[in-house]
Amino acid sequence: MIGSRKTASFFKAFFPALVTVLCSTFFMSKAVFSVDFESARKDMVEDQIKRRGIRDAAVLQALLKVPRHLFVEPKFLSRAYSDFALPIKENQTISQPYVVALMTQSAMLKADDRVLEIGTGSAYQAAVLAEIVNQVYTIEIVESLARTADSRLKELGYNNVTVRHGDGYRGWPEKSPFDAILITAAAPKIPRPLIDQLKVGGRMVLPLGKTGSPQNLIVLTKQEGGSLRKRFITGVVFVPMTGEIRQ
Ligand code: SAH
Repeated sequence: MIGSRKTASFFKAFFPALVTVLCSTFFMSKAVFSVDFESARKDMVEDQIKRRGIRDAAVLQALLKVPRHLFVEPKFLSRAYSDFALPIKENQTISQPYVVALMTQSAMLKADDRVLEIGTGSAYQAAVLAEIVNQVYTIEIVESLARTADSRLKELGYNNVTVRHGDGYRGWPEKSPFDAILITAAAPKIPRPLIDQLKVGGRMVLPLGKTGSPQNLIVLTKQEGGSLRKRFITGVVFVPMTGEIRQ
């Protein structure tokens, strides 16, 4: 009896304090985590993106905003803001932050642009685009990746992105013409149907070349009359574009 009365009065005295300590630890740890990711993101933009010469304010703003740690596999959480590509499911990758910034800047986007991405993957690039332009359409050939990407974007409130499962080689004619098209997988040749879906003055950014060796990241600008102006940006390494382009 005495023992249980003692226990009861002990709890009466200390329970509120215990609850306070547990609650504040929980909320503090959440706060610490979010501060960590936010500062990691700031460091990423300063050290990896600005330092390498990315100047487009909208691109910098988008990279500061998109929570990249929510697009990587949980086991790579601590490396979400590191200077390299990371594996995602189905043997694919989320691109290096700098490459995402470079491709986005090279597309020379305006807020009212309509953009098509081929190779949704984790949907990180799509989210970056969605921070900058009105409408983003993205096609992913691996169904499970398309599904995960779609629900991830919805959860994060990216209502201006539409994800489709399929082969991006033939583009999305019903939504064309596009102001910009980004291909985020290595294409062995320029996909003709995508050029046809580009506006005059529109830009297509893609890694062109064989897989297994570095590809040329290029920008093609569609001229009046349909011809293409080509600009080489840099060497990159991407996973292969698969599907009809290989036939
Ligand atoms: N942009 C992605 C990374 C791309 S990895 C991101 O931000 O995470 C390349 C992706 O292109 C892979 O998910 C791969 O499945 C997809 N892919 C390859 N060939 C494709 C095709 N023909 N059409 C659509 N997606 C394709």
